[in-house]
Amino acid sequence: MSQTNHKIITCPHCFGEVPYGAKVCRGCQAEIEYGIPDWLFLIFLIFGIWVGWHSSGILAWIIGIAAFFVCCIISERYLFKNRIVFKRKYHK
Ligand SMILES: [Zn+2]
Repeated sequence: MSQTNHKIITCPHCFGEVPYGAKVCRGCQAEIEYGIPDWLFLIFLIFGIWVGWHSSGILAWIIGIAAFFVCCIISERYLFKNRIVFKRKYHK
């Protein structure tokens, strides 16, 4: 038996089947987000800038940017590896 990459995920809003990797649900148009949440990505970015900002020299900036990338990679690979969020936009 060979493993298939065509994983199917189920939308919690419309219970429709969506192929893994799709950006939008075909059933209800909900946006699908994978991996790191946007807010966490922003925190890492601010942290990286903060490190550079409060230190003098180009080396601090390099460390800040490196810290940002390391945090993102660790989060993506381990912490939020299987995170899938369906964001449904409701019409007014
Ligand atoms: Zn849906």
